[in-house]
Formats: sequence, structure tokens, C-alpha cells
Amino acid sequence: ALDKTSELQKPRYVRVNTLKTDTESVISELRKQYVVQEDDTVPDLLILPPGADLHNHPLVKNGSVFLQGKGSSMPAVALDPKPGWEVIDACAAPGNKTVHLAALMKGKGKIIACELNKERVERLKNNVKLSGATNVKVKHEDFLNLDPTDPSHSKIRAILLDPSCSGSGTALDRLDHLLPSHNADGSGNADLTRLRKLAAFQKRVLEHALSFPAVERIVYSTCSIHQIENEDVVNSVLPLASSHAFNLETPFPQWPRRGLPTFDSSQHLLRTDLVEDKEGFFVALFVRRENLEDRRR
Ligand code: SAM
Repeated sequence: ALDKTSELQKPRYVRVNTLKTDTESVISELRKQYVVQEDDTVPDLLILPPGADLHNHPLVKNGSVFLQGKGSSMPAVALDPKPGWEVIDACAAPGNKTVHLAALMKGKGKIIACELNKERVERLKNNVKLSGATNVKVKHEDFLNLDPTDPSHSKIRAILLDPSCSGSGTALDRLDHLLPSHNADGSGNADLTRLRKLAAFQKRVLEHALSFPAVERIVYSTCSIHQIENEDVVNSVLPLASSHAFNLETPFPQWPRRGLPTFDSSQHLLRTDLVEDKEGFFVALFVRRENLEDRRR
């Protein structure tokens, strides 16, 4: 009953697809039916009352808005890709963040949306089509097989990496993460073996992302509450990141909830809280140093 109750109390979020419409038009349309607020952290994200069901709303059906929560809308904004950039969405399906990136890039530049799972590739293609984005190239491929030295990747400036994770920040059918015996570091979890496997995969794909020669910005995100998939993964790649001249930067500096204090620079990391924010997300932002200095000049 616990999950059902908290599910009913969740505010509903919709993200306006600015490739198709604008936020003001959506607000005036939705206000005919609902009390609508604008989110104070993520641009073009609207908050509707708990229980508002928009699944069959015309604005959803025609791709004017996407049903996307706040935590899930933060990574693309944190990546901040500019119109005209070449970008990889490394683990893309079903494509919520792909189409968000396309909107932030105003449909200009190029997005390679990479997805390993065949069925999920179809959902990704459908969402890209629905969004109206014309600059997305969907690739049915293992991200680890995208060759960083391939000339076609020599201009990739940003990578969004949202890999498979335990889903412990959103999974409604699994209450184990709410039990007191369960610690955020993953200890006391019967699924520790699974978490370790996921973390090893997450580390590998993050290292792969760090190896693209022209990349300036990388976002690593999960919908997990576990330290082992979040702070520990980031901490484990810091020596490599530093050797490629990347620093951790602070996504959404005003946001109060930061990484667990497990290493020196963990205050740069971002967490959303399972209870306070109703979902547990994690975002880390790597920025290449040369570029930081360029921007400060
Ligand atoms: N970013 C997506 C969104 O916002 O809609 C959600 C991504 S989901 C958390 C992770 C995805 O990565 C899954 O669809 C999974 O099939 C895919 N995946 C897992 N391993 C992969 C790999 N090695 N290369 C590419 N995609 C992979």
C-alpha cells in the first residue's frame, strides 16, 4: 500500500516539446482542465496536480508534450548541448532524453541515438518521429562498439550517458529500497551481486564516453538511489577523467541535494530524493578543462 499511496501523491510533470509548440500555449490549453505551475528548476517543465492523467490527452498524442518527470528532465539540461553540435545519446531508448536534447538544440546539429535492444529501438524511433526532430540518427548498436577514433565521431562534443541501472529510484513494484535495513550504499541488499554487475557495466560505458577525442561535456545519469551505481561509479573513473582533462562540474548549482559525501568533489554531483522529490535520480557532469578556461576568458 505504501507505494500506491506515494504514487497517488506524486505531482504529474509534462515537458513541453519546444520543437512543436511553446510553453505559454501549452499552459493556456492545460489550464482549461488543471491547475498548472511552471517548474522552478527545469525550463519548459510543467507541474500538474497528483492524479492528473494525461496519457490520452491530444497534446501527448501529437507530441506537443512528453510525460517526463523532473529528475528525468535534468540530465539533458545539465548537458546543455548547443544548436549545431554533434552529440551522442549513448543508451537512448525509449528516447525521452533524446527528444529533449533535440529540443534544446532547436533541431540543429546532429544526435546519434544509440540503443542496444531491438524492441526498444522501435520505441525510440516512434518517439523521435512523434517529437518532430529531424536531426536524430537512430543506431541499433552497442555503445561500446562506437569507435571513438572513427572520423565520423571526431566532432562529437557532448555525450549523454543514461545506462541501464537498478531503477531503485523509480521502481514502484519494488519496496526493498524503502525498508530501514536497506542502505543507500547497497549493503544489506539481496541484489548486491546484480548491483555490482550493473556498476561494472556503468563504469565501462562511462570510461568509453570519456575516450571520445573531441567531447567537451558528458552527463552520467541514473534513476538509482544506490551509491554503488552513482558516487562509486563516478569516483572510480576520476583518474581516467582527469588524464583526459575532465573536471566534475556542478549541474543545477542552486539545487540543494548533492552527492553523498563519499569523496572530495562529490558535492558537485546531483541527487533527487526518493521521498522529497518522489523519485531518486542522480546526475554527474564532466566538463573538459581547456574548454572551461576558454569560457572564463
Ligand atoms: N535515456 C532513456 C530515456 O530517457 O528515455 C532511458 C535509457 S534506459 C535507463 C537504458 C537503455 O540503455 C536501455 O534501453 C537499454 O536497452 C540500453 N542499453 C543497455 N546497454 C547498452 C549498450 N551497451 N549500448 C547501448 N544501449 C544500451
